[in-house]
Amino acid sequence: MGAGVFADEQLEVLELVRSLARERIAPRAAAIDASHEFPWDIVELFREHELFALLFDERYGGTGTGTLLMLATIEEIAKACATSALILTVQELGALALKLAGTEEQRERYLPQLASGERLAAYALTEAGSGSDSAAMLTRAVRDGDDYVLDGQKRFITNAGVAGLYTVFAKTDPAAGHGGITCFLVEAEMPGFEVLRLEPKMGISGSTTGELSFDGVRVPVANRIGAEGEGFRIAMRVLDRSRPGVAAQALGIAQGATDYALEYARTRETMGKPIGEHELIAAKLADMETQCEAARGLLYRFGQLVDSGVEEAALTKPSAQAKLFCSDVAMRVTTDAVQILGGYGYIREYPVERMMRDAKITQIYEGTNEIQRLVIAREMLRAATSRASA
Ligand SMILES: Cc1cc2nc3c(=O)[nH]c(=O)nc-3n(C[C@H](O)[C@H](O)[C@H](O)COP(=O)(O)OP(=O)(O)OC[C@H]3O[C@@H](n4cnc5c(N)ncnc54)[C@H](O)[C@@H]3O)c2cc1C
Repeated sequence: MGAGVFADEQLEVLELVRSLARERIAPRAAAIDASHEFPWDIVELFREHELFALLFDERYGGTGTGTLLMLATIEEIAKACATSALILTVQELGALALKLAGTEEQRERYLPQLASGERLAAYALTEAGSGSDSAAMLTRAVRDGDDYVLDGQKRFITNAGVAGLYTVFAKTDPAAGHGGITCFLVEAEMPGFEVLRLEPKMGISGSTTGELSFDGVRVPVANRIGAEGEGFRIAMRVLDRSRPGVAAQALGIAQGATDYALEYARTRETMGKPIGEHELIAAKLADMETQCEAARGLLYRFGQLVDSGVEEAALTKPSAQAKLFCSDVAMRVTTDAVQILGGYGYIREYPVERMMRDAKITQIYEGTNEIQRLVIAREMLRAATSRASA
């Protein structure tokens, strides 16, 4: 997909991204996976070619080219390396609270550093006992003069230790449930902030996933995003906009695996012909490609909705649908790609086993797919109720 969806200037950007992915990122993907080290060279590549700028408005140093192009860029990079694509996905995730609910002063202070890639961002909502259930968080923020004092821990935070700016959610009123959560910007240099440990994991191995500790961290009131108690609402607005970034990562993984399996099926012969000509393999390839195209339809529709300026409330369902469908497709398609390669599919030398491991997280983070289904059904019921009472 490309012509008809993108304007000529957008296609030029995508062509550049495609060639970077092919020539600079794909050759690094296996080593990034094996080393479990954060790929600073890829961050440098993104800085050099101003890819971080694709996420931001012109007045903050961005390109102002919109959401659809950003999603297609993440997709292209994920075809080659899911860890590298996640660098852009999380830069957007970590910046969104500022973009959507920050004051002009806060935006001017931080967004240009994120648009250049000088600072990486992170989003810290999850805790040990609070993943799907955000209201159960324990991290506290207590007002003290011109500061808030933050105490607590966050778990499974992407970009832990490499980010310079963390969007952190903490309770200012523990008795108030969702309504007691407030959003803050925490700089990595603030005293009392520490990364306790990084988690070894199944996939996206070059990305850091860590435990953050806040031990009496003094955060100026000027770094509070929105009002006290508005944090949960901000967190959900952010996720409505960021989940399609995960969908784009998932779709890229799925298409990358499909492309690899196709080439393999074209050249590997059994019983006197390429395996792609055996009907059972041909059917798998057809299903893989069709699922990717269908996923792309949902993803690009979301990008077009944002770029056309629809009201925020209209984004919740299509965002969850894109995340749910693209990530389920990624898991199915990468599993089939491994099957098409037979024994070679299971071996580290071939990229599809990495793609299958990388695909799994897209069904889990930024809200598990069970939670996406709950969100979609809730939106359906809400719309049906309002139609019935109209
Ligand atoms: C690699 C990685 C990176 C991550 N990055 C970040 C990050 O940058 N920032 C951040 O804040 N978090 C991050 N997370 C956390 C992630 O978003 C959570 O792990 C996820 O939301 C699930 O929360 P949980 O692990 O506590 O599972 P739980 O909420 O305990 O869920 C366990 C199971 O129960 C299901 N479940 C829970 N509630 C319901 C329900 N009401 N109905 C039906 N099923 C339900 C879930 O779907 C899941 O299958 C990351 C996690 C990982 C593994």
